[in-house]
Amino acid sequence: STALELERLAKTFPNGTVALAELSAEIEAGDFVSLLGPSGCGKSTVLRLIAGLERPTQGQVRWPGPVKLGFVFQEPTLMAWATATENVALPLELAGVARNEAGDRARRALEPMGLANFANALPRELSGGMRMRVSIARALVAEPAVLLMDEPFAALDEFTRSQLNDDLLRLWGERRFTTLFVTHSVFEAVYLSRRILILGARPARLVADITNPTPYPRD
Ligand code: ADP
Ligand code: ADP
Repeated sequence: STALELERLAKTFPNGTVALAELSAEIEAGDFVSLLGPSGCGKSTVLRLIAGLERPTQGQVRWPGPVKLGFVFQEPTLMAWATATENVALPLELAGVARNEAGDRARRALEPMGLANFANALPRELSGGMRMRVSIARALVAEPAVLLMDEPFAALDEFTRSQLNDDLLRLWGERRFTTLFVTHSVFEAVYLSRRILILGARPARLVADITNPTPYPRD
């Protein structure tokens, strides 16, 4: 089934910058799709349009019904004064889940990220990779159908990045949330994705749509 459909999406910012010329694509539910292209080509804009953080100048994002989204940015944007558990529990509490239950679910979301022993740690007590894991746990705690990731690992060293790639693949394999992953790394797109949408230099437009790029066995 279709998770979402981009219909002739275009975006021109008020200052006249054309970030996105016209993009159409249908995303299958449960797929892992990378948006790959050079820095500044408009990838984040596509993701922000999908998340509803920007309005398209033309076209639309079509959803089959109400859908829960998770979003992971390059900067983990954790609350500095709150523990890992409290950070992960926040979206649940905002959705009206009782404090105790939100805390329990947050701790359960930290476990598969290898952070069970860091549930009470503050962000500054964690490494960059661990903070990113908290951020992923926070994005997934409410069990979204669609996970949007905007160059999440670009600031991490390549060992940490490689571990996070594998953690993400494991979670995706278990739960099959539809994933849209923005990256400028060809390596990462090929390693992670089942489909790569390659965007050309700004204004972004689709220059290639590649299915099953990975030479590694996947399912
Ligand atoms: P990418 O994610 O591929 O690096 P972006 O989507 O962030 O690219 O940006 C695409 C282009 O739009 C860039 O030239 C960027 O400077 C510009 N841009 C992004 N946001 C705004 C904005 N709010 N106003 C004006 N220009 C913007
Ligand atoms: P950039 O962000 O500069 O495009 P790359 O993604 O090309 O960086 O990665 C830089 C280096 O890290 C390359 O040598 C690449 O092979 C390595 N690398 C990136 N992701 C992984 C990964 N998941 N596992 C192992 N090596 C990786």
